[in-house]
This record gives sequence, C-alpha cells and structure tokens, in this order.
Amino acid sequence: MVSQEMYRLGANRSCIRDLFEYGLKKAAEIGKENVYDYSLGNPSVPAPEQVNETIRDLSLGDSLALHGYTPAPGAMDAREAVAQDLTARFGMPIAGADIFFHCGAAPALVSVLRALAVDGSEVITPAPFFPEYRVFSEGAGHKFVVIPAEEKTFQIDPEAFRSAVNEHTQAIILNSPNNPSGVVYSEETLKAIAAILEEKEAEYGHPIYIIADEPYRELVYEGLKVPFIPNLYRNTVVCYSWSKSLSLPGERIGYVCIPQQTEDHDALFAAMAGAARAAGHVCAPSLQQQIVRHCVGIMPNIEAYDRNRKLLYEKLTEYGYSCVKPQGAFYMFVKAPGGDAKAFSDAAKELNLLVVPGADFGCPGFFRLSTCVSYDMIVRSLPAFEQAIRKFC
Ligand code: PLP
Repeated sequence: MVSQEMYRLGANRSCIRDLFEYGLKKAAEIGKENVYDYSLGNPSVPAPEQVNETIRDLSLGDSLALHGYTPAPGAMDAREAVAQDLTARFGMPIAGADIFFHCGAAPALVSVLRALAVDGSEVITPAPFFPEYRVFSEGAGHKFVVIPAEEKTFQIDPEAFRSAVNEHTQAIILNSPNNPSGVVYSEETLKAIAAILEEKEAEYGHPIYIIADEPYRELVYEGLKVPFIPNLYRNTVVCYSWSKSLSLPGERIGYVCIPQQTEDHDALFAAMAGAARAAGHVCAPSLQQQIVRHCVGIMPNIEAYDRNRKLLYEKLTEYGYSCVKPQGAFYMFVKAPGGDAKAFSDAAKELNLLVVPGADFGCPGFFRLSTCVSYDMIVRSLPAFEQAIRKFC
C-alpha cells in the first residue's frame, strides 16, 4: 500500500512540466524554431565565467577535502563568506552560524515550514505565488491561506492581509522579486505588513515569522533596490539560492539565514536543522559550497533578461494585452484575453505558443510567461501573440 497523499502529489503532474514536455514533442515534429515555449523558469544566461574558473581552481586542490562530507549546516568558511557578504550589502550583522546551506531554496523553505508546523498552524501567502508553496506548506502540516491578488499592481493589500492573520498564523511567505508577476514589493508595502504583524504578535503573544523567499533578489531592472526584509521586520527568516542569480539551478545550492535578532533564534535554527535531518539532508554539495564561497559577491548579468522584458512588454501591450511591467525576476504575468487563462493557453497552444495558465499561481485570469528565453524566439513568436489575442477580442 502506498500513501495516497504522496501518490497524489507524484501522480498529479505540474501543468508547467506538462507544457514543457509537450513543447519538446512538438519541436521534434515541426522543428524547434516553430515552437514558442514560455513554460519553464530555467535561466537562459550561462553561469558567470568566474564560476567555471573557480571550479577549475578547486579541482586542482585537495580532492578528498573538496568532495568529502561537510557538517550538516555547511563548511564554516563558506557560511562565513555568505554571512559577510550579507552584512556588507545590507548592513545587518549576520554570523556564519546563522547560515545553513541547503540543496536550493526549495528544501530551505520546506525545512523552515516544517520547523514551524504545530497543531492547527497556518501559513499565509499573497497571490500570485509560486505553486510549490501550497505543496510545501500542506506537506509540512499547515493550513495554506491565500490572500487574493491585488490585480492592478500585484503589491499586497494590507487590509486583506490583516483579515487573514489569526492566532494560528505561524508565518507568511513573501517572494520578491515575485514569480510569476516580476513585481518587487515596495518598502511601503513591506512596512505596512510589518506593522500589522507586530500588532498581531503582541495580541497573540507569539512570533509570526516572515519567510522571505528570495532566489531572484539580484535580478532587478532599472536600478531598483530590493528591500532586505530583516531590516524592516525583526522576525524574518531568509531563504535563498543561486539557482537563478548564478544560473546554477541543477547544482542545488542555497541557504536559510536566521539573523540573530530573530525571536527564539536558537530554537528555530535547531528545529530547522532537525527538519532538514528528518528529510534526509546530510549536507549541501561540498563543491557547490566552495564555489559560492568564492563567487558570493558576483552579480548576474541581467542585460539579456532586461532586453527580453522590454521587447515583450512593448509588443504585448501594443497588441492589446494588459500586464503589470515586471521590475525583477524573469517572468511576466499577463491578463488573459477573454478572462479564462486555461482557455487562452489552450488556444495559444494551437499556435505553438506555450504559456502557463495562472490558476496554480492563485490567479485563474492570468497567464505566465517565462522570459528567460532567446531573444530570437521572442521575435519569432510575436505574430502568434498577435493572432492569439484576436481569437478572444
Ligand atoms: N522559490 C521560487 C519563487 C522559485 O521560483 C523557485 C524556482 O523556480 C524556487 C523557490 C526554488 O528554487 P531552487 O532551485 O533554489 O530550489
């Protein structure tokens, strides 16, 4: 007998993966150049050359040390390099001991969520949201509560947020820059959320944590600064990975940072480590820890993503689509002509244009484009976008 719950998760395929695989099959039939695949968020810019140089240099050193187990939270020299970088960039004192390396942001989130799961606990997130949050939160045992999207700006409506918080709320997951909207939550939005949380913490007598999921932190355009949430709200835990910023998604390296200022710091850190252990975490890949130790200060080259963003935004709005202009990450979340994103996605598929309907992101009237694709593909796909909207207007 197998667990029905795990069976359901494994057997129900993600619609993103479905579209991606459909695209591969279609490309084999009609040629890759005739399929316009905007489904997956796989970086299209290669890792910076310094990453490859670091790998070459590391491979000349002590192989046993490089490929051996590290302590579960990671090698202290690498944890300290990350902590020093955060302290220098955001002015918050963070120690190596506050960093725990994970195999990407996904297991980092899962460990924090499991660390906070108690009887009847709830986790809130604003729509639109990364669909795996539901799986991670419910898998940890929380009730998953969604705040409806504020569709004009995709910021967070403070009053809607206030009414979602209750004495069972353990955490709120915030993802900025956001997948799928590309929006960066403003300091004003974050301060409003922080003020409500402080009030509610005092009322209920327990901490309510912000889990800041930030794999796109460095992918921002037009010089915009992403506020570092621990500077605005004391009880913030940061989950990060280099999957997007250094284009290393297959290498599985990220971390949880629990700053010293966080209430119940030691207990939370230990519970997060315990959750990782219970999930079979031994250590994040040692080679990857050493790569990020040496490359932690490198900023991504966002030129290609920015060029894609500008072209798509300009052309789609010209054709009559409506969309909040992304400020970061490499996605666009577009209002579906006709109002039903599944129907739009199906119609677009007939034109070999693959776009992800927004229901799983908490917004069934929108579709997502992953704009980490080649510029040439975007140019080739424009007539299909023009034709697709005509089917509905
Ligand atoms: N959080 C968000 C918002 C994401 O978009 C992703 C991946 O696409 C993740 C977390 C997981 O990233 P990682 O590859 O670091 O596990």
